[in-house]
Amino acid sequence: MKVLAGATLIDGTGAAPVGDAAVVIDGDRIIATGPRASMPPPGGAEVIDLAGLTLLPGLIDTHDHLASHGYALTTRWGLDEPASTTHLRTGTVLERILAMGYTTVRDAGGLDAGFKLAVEEGLVDGPRLSLGVKIISPTGGIGDSVSPSGHCGGVGTDPLLPDSVANGIDQVRAVVRTMVRAGADVIKCATTGGASSRSGHGPKDAAFTRDEMRVLVDEAHALGRKVMCHALGGPGLVLALEAGVDSIEHGCYLAEEPELIALMAERGIVLTPTLLVYVHHRESPAPHVRERAHALHARHVETVQMALAAGVKISAGTDAGGHGHPVNARELECLVQAGLSPMQALQAATGLAAECLGWERDVGTVQAGRLADLVAVDGDPLRDITLLQSPERIKLVYKGGRLCADRRAPLEADGVRP
Ligand SMILES: [Zn+2]
Repeated sequence: MKVLAGATLIDGTGAAPVGDAAVVIDGDRIIATGPRASMPPPGGAEVIDLAGLTLLPGLIDTHDHLASHGYALTTRWGLDEPASTTHLRTGTVLERILAMGYTTVRDAGGLDAGFKLAVEEGLVDGPRLSLGVKIISPTGGIGDSVSPSGHCGGVGTDPLLPDSVANGIDQVRAVVRTMVRAGADVIKCATTGGASSRSGHGPKDAAFTRDEMRVLVDEAHALGRKVMCHALGGPGLVLALEAGVDSIEHGCYLAEEPELIALMAERGIVLTPTLLVYVHHRESPAPHVRERAHALHARHVETVQMALAAGVKISAGTDAGGHGHPVNARELECLVQAGLSPMQALQAATGLAAECLGWERDVGTVQAGRLADLVAVDGDPLRDITLLQSPERIKLVYKGGRLCADRRAPLEADGVRP
């Protein structure tokens, strides 16, 4: 048993911080938390002194693309380096993200089940993974990888990432089952284009019919999977919500349809706005991507504010991969800039993010019974949310009670840790 003692605890539920707290860990689970004064350490427990630090639940990114390393066609189609090199590149992303305090990541497409197995076996260090495997869309949707000249790249060449284009209800049902067979923990689909999709399929252009989406949601739920739906605006966004998806990814134009925001609040549908990726889209080398990202920006911020006011659950997802892998906690800074309080932004990356995944009984909060996924940071993230972006501030990371990163020792003159 061990006791993390003396830190200020922010438990991920939105409750006020507890000063001089104690968290008791037995094996991979938390068995007790509270003010240290009221909790004498169990006999024989190792006491780890965290005085002066802030203790948080392990952070969660609810929308990442860990195996993506750029939007260039040659990169996306795996033409510019051997597959093994790309896989090892993905492995370093997994390790780096965990060491920055992200103990759980939901991959929104592109990461195959072998990575999850490798993390579970300890072949590579990484966060707990919830996998979407591939994005399901009809022909012409964002799951359909076709070059501007009509060439198809990479489709069907990797048995672990099966073809995800589906037309008609029978194909939709089959593709959902195929994704589950390939290891999907969540069904990722798309009912609109996006900022970075091909020109001609933009943020308000719809994909899928009402019947196709109803079947998709029905089949996913029958197999015990939630549905995360990429939808920015227009009829495709309406259709996704009517079909009963569990989270809306991006949702940039929701502000134009306040009744949809009310519906999300009422049904507990989560919004993952992925603000960070649009910062990069606004600087994209592709003119149509830049233009779309600028056009939606004000509405996107308004959407976040309206959703917050209506009581919609907001979760923090970066949608990283296309623009490389910037520090995941930058999304929290974006959420604060959009109007969340630092506490709300932390909830979006902890308790509410866990609810978004349906994993709230295991992760996302520091409570008795949860897995001991914890991050100790130097400073107060409620005063400065950006400190979560600095490796030097992320002092300790525990995943399931195991110490995965320890930066307590000061760096030596040559920049190396003793
Ligand atoms: Zn995405």
